[in-house]
Amino acid sequence: MSIQEHVNQVKANIAAAAQAAGRDPEEITLCAATKVQTDDTIRAAIAAGITVCGENRVQELTAHLAADAYRGAQVHFIGHLQTNKVKQVVGKVDLIHSVDSERLLRAIDAQAAKQDLVQDILLEVNIAGEESKGGCTPEEARQLAQLTRELEHVRLRGLMAIPPISPEPGANRPFFAAMRQLFVDIKANMGDNQCNMDCLSMGMSGDYPDAIAEGATLVRVGTALFGPRPPMHKG
Ligand SMILES: *Cc1c(COP(=O)(O)O)cnc(C)c1O
Repeated sequence: MSIQEHVNQVKANIAAAAQAAGRDPEEITLCAATKVQTDDTIRAAIAAGITVCGENRVQELTAHLAADAYRGAQVHFIGHLQTNKVKQVVGKVDLIHSVDSERLLRAIDAQAAKQDLVQDILLEVNIAGEESKGGCTPEEARQLAQLTRELEHVRLRGLMAIPPISPEPGANRPFFAAMRQLFVDIKANMGDNQCNMDCLSMGMSGDYPDAIAEGATLVRVGTALFGPRPPMHKG
């Protein structure tokens, strides 16, 4: 299948999952997870209708930006972000999905202040409590959300989660449902900043229909669009 056929298929699956859940398919954004893809593959995906690219390594982001590979699409940073690399990401992407500590949040705010801009961010929550994974606890997310209200150069747009790679269909639904509840709770406590919270980023190739059933507004899909990645890549 061509990239165009994959994009059409994934979009059709998104629409079907939305309709089954009584939701408007227009509420759901498809973000193409472009790690390890070439500039030309990214351009082909955008030509096939991809409007958001999600990058998860700073080095690849920088190279694709230099090549102007994302022209015509938004760029999101979806991978783990080290504090010492915020300079290469802040102001260069439309949304950072992976803010999971006060230190990182403050570093992004400081860098955005230097550039005189406001950086849109999501808080990444380790919703399954997996030891080896990034993301903060739900309680930390509540605290970080409140902290964003004091920081003038970040705007909290929502939450993101990467539950376990699920061996069985439906296995991650409780995690997605828990994320949805946390999203609603945090949003309710955001006061005047509530209206900015419009993004719940969850669901990947193996489980995006389930994520949509539980309220995802953005799904991050790689393999189902581009085919399998080389096995040894450290993502
Ligand atoms: C790679 C990646 C995805 C997409 O994974 P697939 O299983 O290939 O769809 C989604 N989110 C993040 C953060 C990723 O790194």
